Amino acid sequence: MTAQENQGGRATYFDGNVGRRRAVSLAFGPALEIMEDGALLAAWPYAEVRRLPPPGGIMRIRALGAPKGAWLEIDDPQTQGDIARHCLLLLGEKTAPNPEGRRRLAYGLAACVMFGGFLWGGVPRMADVIAPLIPVEWEKKVGESADEEVRKTFPGKSCKAPKGVEALAKVSQRLQEASRLRLPATIEAIPSIVPNAFALPGGKVFLLSGLLEKAQSQDEVIGVLAHEFGHIENRDHLRRIIATGGTAMLVGLAFGDMTGGSAMVVVGNSVLNAAHSRENEAQADAFAAKTLGALGRPSKPLGELLLRITGEDDGGPLSILRDHPLSADRLKALEAADNSATAPPLLSEEEWKALKGICGERGAKRAPRTNAG
Ligand SMILES: [Zn+2]
Repeated sequence: MTAQENQGGRATYFDGNVGRRRAVSLAFGPALEIMEDGALLAAWPYAEVRRLPPPGGIMRIRALGAPKGAWLEIDDPQTQGDIARHCLLLLGEKTAPNPEGRRRLAYGLAACVMFGGFLWGGVPRMADVIAPLIPVEWEKKVGESADEEVRKTFPGKSCKAPKGVEALAKVSQRLQEASRLRLPATIEAIPSIVPNAFALPGGKVFLLSGLLEKAQSQDEVIGVLAHEFGHIENRDHLRRIIATGGTAMLVGLAFGDMTGGSAMVVVGNSVLNAAHSRENEAQADAFAAKTLGALGRPSKPLGELLLRITGEDDGGPLSILRDHPLSADRLKALEAADNSATAPPLLSEEEWKALKGICGERGAKRAPRTNAG
């Protein structure tokens, strides 16, 4: 900050009490300081300053914590610029959106939060700090990009056997109700011999037909889907994208600065290839157990399916154990999980059969493992 900026500028102050215009001077200290003849009338925290609908050429601002009816009018362009630089959340609800300003603000905030988080505890902590701050609309846009990447990796058409789609929609709805997921999810089955399922930011879950083939009961599949809902609820995929250095890219995707190309490859890679942390896995398992409990269904089959797959898993790219690692603690918790049912299965025998056949009888076997080299 230069000395010149510290000197502040002139403004007209309406204090909200007596409704009188007061000629004041402004100083940019720890807060926006409003002074009259050297006496401090008010100090507005920068983060609380908002813009009011402006009469032509004049900047009019208020502060969230200030008395109702208190505002400042600034007509000097230099001071207006200083205010805009100090008060980053200036954008009022009633002003026209300024995409350029919002974009710069977003990059600036991302950089500040990243740096703060990094100082605090390194990259994982940084991801924990940033992930909850990402607006849902951004999360959805990132999810759309990831969706495109997934379709390149799994080029088979999504599975549309009508009875199977119905059964999957039923499972999806019951899981969403029981889990009270924070945003609507959709589950789509795609053909692949890989036994896996994964979620994207924004609420999309892909269920690979290889998993349906390996499953011996509907509770096993439902357990895996509930676990994926846990990752959606906790925004674990955003965490992974941030942890792999994609914060600026997240902002870019949100504002349409980056489409296609490298940004999407980073998103795709971090959804398809990066492993969740042990803590995130444990949380997703706990979320699944709670959801299954609310449905009156056992959570042990989730562990049984994973263990069965472990026996045959080659740990290669796209394997379920690679992106959802089985730690000793996790294994113990899954083995000790509840195996009692207090409610009937979600699907009838017929519906479960239809779900298993959602990709057609030989759908999975025909599908390539991946084209991702
Ligand atoms: Zn997982």
